Amino acid sequence: MNYKQDEQGLYLVANKKFINWMDVHTYCHTCLSALTFDDEFDASYCSTCNEWREEKCSDDSCEYCERRPQRPLDPRR
Ligand SMILES: [Zn+2]
Ligand SMILES: [Zn+2]
Repeated sequence: MNYKQDEQGLYLVANKKFINWMDVHTYCHTCLSALTFDDEFDASYCSTCNEWREEKCSDDSCEYCERRPQRPLDPRR
């Protein structure tokens, strides 16, 4: 990982892009694409990796997480 510090703050340098350190959590840590937020399941995912980037919550009765497909881009019922 490369970092760059300037007067605006700390940046992560990846894929020839500068990602502000404050926004790093909105990028995939694997491929560094911007994450997509899924309103239906109230969670963000990476469409490039086809993986959720948020853990399911610890609430067993949570209907969002229960219905969440294994992979975000799998066909949904
Ligand atoms: Zn990714
Ligand atoms: Zn949940």
